Amino acid sequence: MRNYNFSAGPSMLPLEVLEKVQSELLDYAGTGMSVMEMSHRSKPYEAINAEAEANLRELMRIPENYDVIFVQGGASTQFEAVPLNLCVNKKADYVVTGNFSGKAYKESKKYGDMVEVASSADKNFTYIPRLEKSMFRSDADYVHICYNNTIFGTRYAETPDTGDIPLVADWSSCILSQEVDVTKYGVIYAGAQKNVGPAGVTIVIVRHDLLGRENPLCPTMLKWATQIKEHSLYNTPPAFSTYVAMLVFRHLLKNGGIAAMQTVNEHKAQMLYDFIDNSSFYTNSVVKEFRSLMNVPFVTPNAELDAQFVSEAAKEGLLSLKGHRLVGGMRASIYNAMPVDGVVKLIDFMKRFEKANQ
Ligand SMILES: *Cc1c(COP(=O)(O)O)cnc(C)c1O
Repeated sequence: MRNYNFSAGPSMLPLEVLEKVQSELLDYAGTGMSVMEMSHRSKPYEAINAEAEANLRELMRIPENYDVIFVQGGASTQFEAVPLNLCVNKKADYVVTGNFSGKAYKESKKYGDMVEVASSADKNFTYIPRLEKSMFRSDADYVHICYNNTIFGTRYAETPDTGDIPLVADWSSCILSQEVDVTKYGVIYAGAQKNVGPAGVTIVIVRHDLLGRENPLCPTMLKWATQIKEHSLYNTPPAFSTYVAMLVFRHLLKNGGIAAMQTVNEHKAQMLYDFIDNSSFYTNSVVKEFRSLMNVPFVTPNAELDAQFVSEAAKEGLLSLKGHRLVGGMRASIYNAMPVDGVVKLIDFMKRFEKANQ
């Protein structure tokens, strides 16, 4: 039996994709081997790699003047790759809206004069600060944001305008969940394990004219240009993860692309937030305008009930609802692959739990 996994990541994958993987596991396309066992220099793998890129370009409408690579190391490695690749004046401006943007800022400071230009720490990251072009240093190499804050359950209501300064964004927990205008960004990066596929592969989308700005100390493996030149095959790639990601992209294209996903995601999130807002038992303290479509933190009246909620929900197959240790309470991560039915079942459980424990 399949449970509903509300984990913040790794998270659910579409059943249709898992079944496809299962059917091809022992013998991929007549090769007599699985993708895990296959040379990354073989024709079948080159086709997987090429389709992954083509599908992602189509889904996100990535223009020709952007490069797309699939690399290892997770989003966390990009926290360092960003300052190492975009190094002209050794200055960058960071917006800190939660744990991951804070980590990105902390890593970057090793490589230059990095400044936190705005933060929502004053209200425990329950909102996104207003950003004005004038807040950024005109000679900054880039401005860094995290678009969806996985732990605190916030997201930007719109893409900030940074003028001529390249905007770099961590889209790990929202990529492919809502429309995005890639042209507003210099760089978008995302680990796969939330909305894309298995952990192990990380997407990096880079505007081509930003290459050639590396810090001389940038390790070859962290240099985007290295992987761009070799179409993500500079060294042994995370082939199986990229293959599953390619199938997820194919699945999304077949089902209406990002626009269709966004509609379903808005519906799922609306149901859950409406229920929480209409209840006097559950609370979500994020400013409404900035509520995440993907990660919904909430609490009951006290910590004991929170713990009881998590364990009783698990008995009904509603898994991993425990909130992050920085926030406590619960968090329902409702990424692309969480079916509407999973949210309906969660709300039904929440109703019954409230009644029994009021
Ligand atoms: C999960 C997550 C990360 C960390 O990703 P890793 O792949 O584990 O390094 C970074 N940023 C955001 C927004 C995340 O949700």
